[in-house]
Amino acid sequence: MTSISENLKNIKSTLPDHVTLVAVSKTKPVSDLTEAYNAGQRIFGENKIQEMAEKHENMPKDIQWHMIGHVQRNKVKYMAEFVSLIHGVDNFKLLKEINKQAEKHSRTIDCLLQIKIASEESKFGMTLSNAEDILHSEDFSALKNIKVTGVMGMATFTEDDAQIKSEFNKLKSAFDSLKNIEHPNFKPETISMGMSGDYKLAIACGSTMVRVGSSIFGHRS
Ligand SMILES: *Cc1c(COP(=O)(O)O)cnc(C)c1O
Repeated sequence: MTSISENLKNIKSTLPDHVTLVAVSKTKPVSDLTEAYNAGQRIFGENKIQEMAEKHENMPKDIQWHMIGHVQRNKVKYMAEFVSLIHGVDNFKLLKEINKQAEKHSRTIDCLLQIKIASEESKFGMTLSNAEDILHSEDFSALKNIKVTGVMGMATFTEDDAQIKSEFNKLKSAFDSLKNIEHPNFKPETISMGMSGDYKLAIACGSTMVRVGSSIFGHRS
């Protein structure tokens, strides 16, 4: 078995410069995150707000914490003070709540709109036209404490590379059609797609941010 720092080094050596690596550390102990931190990693992704808040408490303050999981509106307040990017924004009410909590801390929180690209029922996300409606709405203009910086998507859990590729292409084309919208709260720069099993394919399809967990930290139980 290779170490966390070796895994990180190997993965990073395959990433083009324009691709950001989010080390997905959910369920892993602080000692594992510390090993990654000591190897230079500063961006960590978690999918539970409480777990992320506890790790934030116990780790160096120059870490950027990304919330990559589904977000319940009533829990936004527990991460508003420190979260750096929220990947899974899939409705306008959630965006409004993030704005409200960010305002309390005099911050601007970056958010990605989660677009549903998978065929599976279980995956969260909005349609491209939902995203367009949000970005064009009057209400969106009122949200001064959030910035939408791109899109996020999750492919179907399948071995079928052709299907995964077509879903990644769908996210890339959604991004390309949204990016022409001009709005002060919209700064399109990020396409978050790709995990341990498919990040290379995701990069080939235009990903600018990959979320890699098990290939760095080992399998989760
Ligand atoms: C767990 C998770 C990942 C990382 O998955 P791995 O297969 O371990 O790389 C990426 N994105 C999201 C949204 C996740 O929940």
